[in-house]
Amino acid sequence: MEQLGFDFGVEPQPLIKVTPARLSLYDDCPRRYRMTYLDRPAPVRTGPWAHNTVGAVVHNALRELFALPARRRTPERAAKLVAEHWRSAGFADAVQVARYAEAARRWVADYVEHHGAEADVVGLERWVSARVGSDPSAPSLLVEGRADRIDRRGGELVVVDYKTGRRALQDADAQRSQALALYAVAARRTLHAPCSRVELHHVPTGTVAVAEHTEKTLGEHVRKAEETATATRAAADRLTEGGDPDHLFPARPAPRCAWCELRPSCPEGKQAAPAARPWDLLAPTT
Ligand code: SF4
Repeated sequence: MEQLGFDFGVEPQPLIKVTPARLSLYDDCPRRYRMTYLDRPAPVRTGPWAHNTVGAVVHNALRELFALPARRRTPERAAKLVAEHWRSAGFADAVQVARYAEAARRWVADYVEHHGAEADVVGLERWVSARVGSDPSAPSLLVEGRADRIDRRGGELVVVDYKTGRRALQDADAQRSQALALYAVAARRTLHAPCSRVELHHVPTGTVAVAEHTEKTLGEHVRKAEETATATRAAADRLTEGGDPDHLFPARPAPRCAWCELRPSCPEGKQAAPAARPWDLLAPTT
């Protein structure tokens, strides 16, 4: 027997799959997004950057450390893990390598001394995802990604993101971070627990920037993500139909062009700022 039902003649829109990293890249510079994710063959890039090396080493060491039971998360163990994961890509010379290897061991050991034992960790580089949208009854986005760490405190989840850049971060940075807000929404859905608090942990200084989100602030981040994702998909579709890449994904020159890894392939970026040296974005060691 034929099923009765409603047909409004409207095809549901497929969900747009996004990661916080992709959205942020497009917001910063659409051309950089295109060259990173769409252009093939892949455009020429700079070589490695020392600050990225340090960031990767610190993330790897902390991931392994927080996988251990709390009593084994000692500063000595943390320093040893930094040494085990150490790499030297992007540094000026052996003297700088040695200085930063020592600094990174100290940063991570100090961080663990102050923040290591108490964390009740429920996720390490945990994949989280959620269907979201400004109309909750008709989600438009599938947001997914890996959060550095998800803790449980007092029955709620807390999203933790490690930072290793030049400056300590403020609470306003945590509040502004679309990535953290989207991870909070995705952590709720994936781990079935409330999540409103997000934190940026700046490992070189041991400081923690905090945001306590409300439904309203999370909703604003979701709406903004929806706008960016819709614009990204429209531009990508038009590019596939033969549109002008530079018009659809315009360059957005800014001081950051000095250290953009795609500047060798970007004439506007080369004009916008002189090239930074690969170690210029390292955090100070003192
Ligand atoms: S160099 Fe600047 S303008 Fe060019 S892709 Fe990178 S960020 Fe964009």
